[in-house]
Amino acid sequence: MGLFSRDKPKIKIQTTKKDGFSGWLKCTHCNELIHTNQIEQNNNCCPKCDYHYRLPVDDRIKALVDADSFQPMFTEYQSIDSLNFVDTEPYTERIAVAKEKSGRDEAVIVGKCLIQGRPVAFGVMDFQFMGGSMGSVVGEKLTLLIEYATAHRLPLVIVSTSGGARMQESILSLMQMAKTSAALAKLHEAGLPYISILTNPTTGGVTASFASLGDIIIAEPNALICFAGPRVIEQTIGQQLPPGAQKSEFLLKHGMIDCIVRRPELKNKLAELLDFIAADIEPVPESPTETKKKSSKR
Ligand SMILES: [Zn+2]
Repeated sequence: MGLFSRDKPKIKIQTTKKDGFSGWLKCTHCNELIHTNQIEQNNNCCPKCDYHYRLPVDDRIKALVDADSFQPMFTEYQSIDSLNFVDTEPYTERIAVAKEKSGRDEAVIVGKCLIQGRPVAFGVMDFQFMGGSMGSVVGEKLTLLIEYATAHRLPLVIVSTSGGARMQESILSLMQMAKTSAALAKLHEAGLPYISILTNPTTGGVTASFASLGDIIIAEPNALICFAGPRVIEQTIGQQLPPGAQKSEFLLKHGMIDCIVRRPELKNKLAELLDFIAADIEPVPESPTETKKKSSKR
């Protein structure tokens, strides 16, 4: 695979040389040649056209939360194949491949962290893991996070990216939409804010549940945000969609989201919004038994 080939849409930066030089990439959006280091230093955004490439989970955490403050939670949950589902390959096989490829257990990471000094319950989805699909474990971990935020009076921030519900778990994955939404309703009743951040792409059952339920919904520029994708709709209705339909800018214009924030400005914007909506919220510290229970699990 050549570095210059056009059919290499996703950026995977590998630094092999000691000086950090790893070559040049052609931006798939503006066709400019760009040094990979430049893209990397720019939060995986093209410095010429500002196209937002996918940001790996670790980089996302680094970009949004205070250094070394993220503490993962509920890491013990693992997907199982309770339906013995086989399509072109068994689901168990797909999970194993996804784990190998992503180096993670599931398509979401949840935990607590500080954002500019403020304690926050934080979740981030991983598109690398089976397209960020929501199965039982993704739904459960998010629900546990939301319940934790409710119990400890923390503002909630979730960064979404997803291909939708995990088909291999059939109805069990669809149930996660109701479960996460119900947990968010309780968070809302408790008067706690939820900021939802939508990144490219956020689709299907994730868009149709927790991702669209934020008190404030932020999207990255030019992100595909939809329930059914453009191709499916065009095939179904036999018509072409208007240009830019289902992109952030279109959704902002039609009132589906609250703002579009460029990735380099996201952390400051998040802190500003938290200052505004979470100023009076006093977090409830963990009880000693809770902390003990958690540390004995590790
Ligand atoms: Zn570009």
